[in-house]
Amino acid sequence: MVFIKGIGLANAVRLIVYAFPPQFQYNINKFRKYAGLAVMFQCPQCGYYYYGGESSNGKPAVPSEEGWLCPNDGTKLIGTAARNVKYNRTVKTFLLGILANNLMMAGGVYSRIIKSFKEELASKHPDWPKLKVQRTAVRKAISLLLSQYFSLSPYTTV
Ligand SMILES: [Zn+2]
Repeated sequence: MVFIKGIGLANAVRLIVYAFPPQFQYNINKFRKYAGLAVMFQCPQCGYYYYGGESSNGKPAVPSEEGWLCPNDGTKLIGTAARNVKYNRTVKTFLLGILANNLMMAGGVYSRIIKSFKEELASKHPDWPKLKVQRTAVRKAISLLLSQYFSLSPYTTV
């Protein structure tokens, strides 16, 4: 972790403190939800939603080549920013603000990842304002970083 350019020891410790209390059971979905980073997937047909490993009726969303499908009617779910859900603002600010800025300034692999996400999003969504492209790219890169981080043993030391 410390060896990822731009994270540094202090931020690595902070990430461990935030991400590894036993309440998450070392589960990345739970942590994403807690940090306000989970995407809510909703069905435009029946109102079913899937969010951070939980759903409106207890049934998981069905993965497919086109994306997540509704378990009730097979409609493609639409990803939206989660509204009216509680999350920890301090942790979200740390991840998307402090940590993301450090990564971008350090110019390491994650800064290149953020840049390539930005280019990809800008060409996919030419109508999006720059700020939205930036925020989405950062969110995707931090999500990736977290999934790599959670794939390590919880007992990994810094
Ligand atoms: Zn549905």
